[in-house]
Amino acid sequence: MDAAPASIYLLCRNAAYAGSVIQQLSLFGLECQAFARASALLAAIHGKAPLMVLVDEAGCDDMALPQVLPMIARLQDVPLVYLSLPMAAQEQIELARAGATDFLPKPFDSHRLIDQIDRMLEAQSPQPARVLIVDDSEMLTHWASNVLTMGGMRVRSVKNPLKVPQLVALEKPELILLDMYMPECTGDELARVLRQNPAFDGIPIVFLSSETQRGRQLSARRMGGDDFLVKNNDPDELIDIVTMMVDRYRRLRELMSRDSLTRLLNHTHLIERLLQEVARAHETVRPLAFAMIDIDHFKSVNDRYGHAVGDRVIKSLARLLRQAFPGADLVGRYGGEEFSIVFPDTSLLRAAQQVDELRQRFGDLCQTSGSGEPLTISFSAGVAQLGNGMHAEQLIESADAALYQAKAAGRNQVGLAR
Ligand code: GH3
Ligand code: MG
Ligand code: MG
Repeated sequence: MDAAPASIYLLCRNAAYAGSVIQQLSLFGLECQAFARASALLAAIHGKAPLMVLVDEAGCDDMALPQVLPMIARLQDVPLVYLSLPMAAQEQIELARAGATDFLPKPFDSHRLIDQIDRMLEAQSPQPARVLIVDDSEMLTHWASNVLTMGGMRVRSVKNPLKVPQLVALEKPELILLDMYMPECTGDELARVLRQNPAFDGIPIVFLSSETQRGRQLSARRMGGDDFLVKNNDPDELIDIVTMMVDRYRRLRELMSRDSLTRLLNHTHLIERLLQEVARAHETVRPLAFAMIDIDHFKSVNDRYGHAVGDRVIKSLARLLRQAFPGADLVGRYGGEEFSIVFPDTSLLRAAQQVDELRQRFGDLCQTSGSGEPLTISFSAGVAQLGNGMHAEQLIESADAALYQAKAAGRNQVGLAR
């Protein structure tokens, strides 16, 4: 098997334009091959599936684009991105019918494409949905649990509804499948209790019951249920509804917890994660490190080259962080040009070493100004380790003091808290 990373194929008859796209993508370590002829592109796709195909509206030398798009689509199921100046909706619909899966407006913005690629790659390795089943019936639990597990989900079940709030806090399910009638309390009573805890806000609750009375179903939904499934033993319906609701919940959570520019945790959620990890570290007597990162002389980048270039630099650091920490659920934008990383089970030295590797990689990125002038940009960082009985706030202060030291010592370095 060919282990080389897949590249991006570009169909474009304009060699100068193709060259500039190739150059921009190479700054992100992405390889791009350009083709002026559709026949050569089709042969290349046949030989090796690319990460995606970019088709420029300028077209190619040997075929008309409306002919080429369906041929590419038939050959490989890869994203087919159409690059063009803004166009009419009708035209866009026709291109989508011909096989275009995405559209990217010109002038070519490599950051937008990189965002798209990142999302695509993340979507290719989805985490299994976490579902909690609450039902006193052994038979039904067994059935639902089997169906969902076969559907690729991670299922926990519990008989006693009174144990649910604690279990939800611990396991963070992404959907709760709830029986209506149980000896300890009814499903709608439990839903109401769960809805009172803001930390559980938004977790979809689906009632699964033989209740067919419409009025009873509605009252259950008023208590905080999101949907009502009648127990009818249809496995496909159960999988479809659960998948759909978990997807929507994930999108909502992402909107609430991530910063829109960087897609890293926002300040609030970063602190929440840190608090959780601090509690866990004290409980398990494991080490915990915390790093604060701050881009050097960032104000002058903005002043000299403009806010848009500053934003691009912030995004490039965020992307580096997301690559270094897949899932990125311990990395956040602390504020402005400041970032933080939570390192569970990691010693001070090991964390500092990882941050220093990041510092070097960030320095190696080829950043450019709007006019293509190369920029040299660095960051400074401070790393601290959780001490006995230390609070999260003290850990942050300690990392911040180490960061201040690194700045004072000349920047572009990692400071260790004493
Ligand atoms: P130091 O090396 O001491 O950290 O200097 P600095 O210039 O990086 O620090 P300072 O705190 O003076 O300036 C930070 C600047 O970051 C000021 C602010 O305008 C800019 N900034 C904050 N958030 C954003 C953002 O989202 N986009 C852009 N472009 N700039 C931002
Ligand atoms: Mg700052
Ligand atoms: Mg700064």
